[in-house]
Amino acid sequence: MAENTNKARTLKFDIFRYNPAEPEKAPFMQRFEIEEAPYMSLFLALNQIREEQDSSLQFDFVCRSAVCGSCGMMVNGRPALGCQTLTADLPDTIALHPLPTFGLIGDLSVDTGRWFRGMVERVNGWIVRQDEFDRTALEAPMDDKIAEKIYEADRCIECGCCVAGCGVANVRPDFLGATGLNRIARFMMDPRDERAQESWFEVVSDAEGVFGCIGMMACDDVCPKDLPLLEVYSYIRRKAVASIFSDGKDNPAKL
Ligand code: SF4
Ligand code: SF4
Repeated sequence: MAENTNKARTLKFDIFRYNPAEPEKAPFMQRFEIEEAPYMSLFLALNQIREEQDSSLQFDFVCRSAVCGSCGMMVNGRPALGCQTLTADLPDTIALHPLPTFGLIGDLSVDTGRWFRGMVERVNGWIVRQDEFDRTALEAPMDDKIAEKIYEADRCIECGCCVAGCGVANVRPDFLGATGLNRIARFMMDPRDERAQESWFEVVSDAEGVFGCIGMMACDDVCPKDLPLLEVYSYIRRKAVASIFSDGKDNPAKL
């Protein structure tokens, strides 16, 4: 946590500006200066800039509390959430760019929704059953340890920071990224899902999936929710190997 030093600083923001609806205007970096306030987040700073200096500045925020995943951006070259990043932790000059790999809406605003919808459709990111869903049936109990593991994976807020920070995702648009593999692992662990091993491994066992990952763990470094992404990769790889030598079944609680 940053210290509140109360030292007055003038912050210089160099912000990427581009509106895809006006392709005739080239992208440029625009400088804004504001006085730093105690406990100022990038969310507060950007709102102040928009209110006082340029109402056309585009960026996304909804919840302000690292839950909605809307405010991912490149902060001095590193993906981070604007609401969670305090200016006190940054130097006087702060460069802000939109997250790469996602479609640009304008300035700092990107379309993560389209990417995440495509990813969820590719991996069938929902529970697949062979029987008809019975809405009157009682919910089946689940082992506590497995439920905790699933809950951990479900903490992903789909901010896209892990994808933006991933060297592979930056050059391979079809790479599922850490969040995609985390999503798959979440359903692989779920005992209610009745998919066959082959259908999992069709999705993950190639260069677009877990074997495309070069393992430098930038995703793990930048995930604002501290998801156990390293453990997710180990789990999927272990399952892939187990599927070769056995029926692929192991205890998901061991993730
Ligand atoms: S470990 Fe590296 S290559 Fe693999 S998903 Fe994470 S950032 Fe991308
Ligand atoms: S895994 Fe982490 S960094 Fe990636 S989308 Fe989810 S919360 Fe964001």
